[in-house]
Amino acid sequence: MAALRHLKQCHPRGIAISNFHTSSPASAKQHYKMLVLGGGSGGITMSSRMKRLVGAENVAVVEPSEIHYYQPIWTLVGAGAKTVASSGRPTASLMPSGVKWVKSKVQEINPETNTVRTDDGTVISYEYLIVALGLELHYEKIKGLPEGFGHPKIGSNYSVQTVEKTWKALQDFKEGNAVFTFPNTPVKCAGAPQKIMYLSDAYLRKTGKRAKANMIYNTSLPVLFGIKKYADSLWEIVKKRDLQINLRHNLIEVRADKQEAVFENLDKPGETKVFEYEMLHVTPPMGPSSVIKGSPLADEIGWLDLNKETLQHTKYPNVFGIGDCTNLPTAKTGAAVAAQSAVLSRTISKILKKEKPDKKYDGYTSCPLVTSYNTVILAEFDYNGQPLETFPFNQAKERRLMYHMKADVMPHLYWHGLLRGLWGGPGPYRKIMHLGMK
Ligand SMILES: Cc1cc2nc3c(=O)[nH]c(=O)nc-3n(C[C@H](O)[C@H](O)[C@H](O)COP(=O)(O)OP(=O)(O)OC[C@H]3O[C@@H](n4cnc5c(N)ncnc54)[C@H](O)[C@@H]3O)c2cc1C
Repeated sequence: MAALRHLKQCHPRGIAISNFHTSSPASAKQHYKMLVLGGGSGGITMSSRMKRLVGAENVAVVEPSEIHYYQPIWTLVGAGAKTVASSGRPTASLMPSGVKWVKSKVQEINPETNTVRTDDGTVISYEYLIVALGLELHYEKIKGLPEGFGHPKIGSNYSVQTVEKTWKALQDFKEGNAVFTFPNTPVKCAGAPQKIMYLSDAYLRKTGKRAKANMIYNTSLPVLFGIKKYADSLWEIVKKRDLQINLRHNLIEVRADKQEAVFENLDKPGETKVFEYEMLHVTPPMGPSSVIKGSPLADEIGWLDLNKETLQHTKYPNVFGIGDCTNLPTAKTGAAVAAQSAVLSRTISKILKKEKPDKKYDGYTSCPLVTSYNTVILAEFDYNGQPLETFPFNQAKERRLMYHMKADVMPHLYWHGLLRGLWGGPGPYRKIMHLGMK
């Protein structure tokens, strides 16, 4: 409720909260034809689509949060280009009308009995299950965090609690090292850890402090970006702007009182290096949802085990999944959620008719690589790491138009298209833009 109050204060005109959906803590045994776990990007999107398919009264969403955040805009919040208030809306205003909102946390999934248990002990049974639980952030896996965020000069765009600290650290920068990290785990939006470096560089240039700054990107990866076409462009930018890139450097400790960050060299086990910092941006280690990990739905690592084309579970045919919680071998993004939602709707509609799923997800995902306060490289690619660009021009070039897309068009598309189940990714437009050739 405190978060909701904060959001209302941030939106002085208030936000219209729909009263048409039914929300309650799960209190008695309940049954739903279509049960959705998680009310983030994938969960709300699929509940909108399932409402159209099976009727609102047959759909329920289990989600504990009062506020739903549009996380991609946090990149711009951390750089002072958007407010944190603009990133959140009350979950109640986004839940499709008539759909049951179970305001609880899922504690356990039992696909053998088609039931889910919530943290207040309620058992909900289902006919079909859509898992959209996202992933977990693990700041605590870095020694000295999260308590280090209590000190100045350190922030992280990956959490609503710490994103404004990034902007504060950037504004307070005087002279020294600005250090940006990428962890040794899969992450959501793999471009975000370096986007904030480009924005910080631009900000320090604008404010005349760049000459006193060493910009350092320490990444666990052996590459700057996973797709060569875009990595080549990014390497040109880092050379031109004098940004230092250290590959295979993994953050293991933050000594926030001394403004020191400790990295291990992943190519030389046991070797560590201490970087003093004037500003530190942390991208935390991430991992699968503990609820999925502890269930028979998990693969050997803990991700939801799906057929990568149909998004149906590999062992339980009445279970489906979408988004960051899955083991789909593509980059974890909201753009991927959009493309997956169109395929998954089709898969489920076929299964309901006892037919074979016929639409295949090609791994489409996208990352708007923000390279300044008015330029973006729009990376779009598939399972094979092949560029799958929507526009009929080279998207590896920095463009103003793409910044406008990221900052203004995409949020609109998210709130009014994706979450209402009306946006399934740019596939159809790509065909038109390329005159039917792609
Ligand atoms: C800084 C940043 C920048 C990003 N930039 C981009 C970008 O430019 N482009 C892009 O496409 N994507 C971007 N993303 C990624 C994008 O936000 C995610 O990939 C997307 O939100 C994934 O959707 P999801 O539904 O899988 O997970 P989420 O949207 O995270 O939703 C998961 C939901 O599950 C709920 N949940 C968790 N555990 C439980 C439980 N036990 N019981 C019930 N509910 C639970 C959570 O409360 C949450 O609401 C960015 C993300 C960040 C953090």
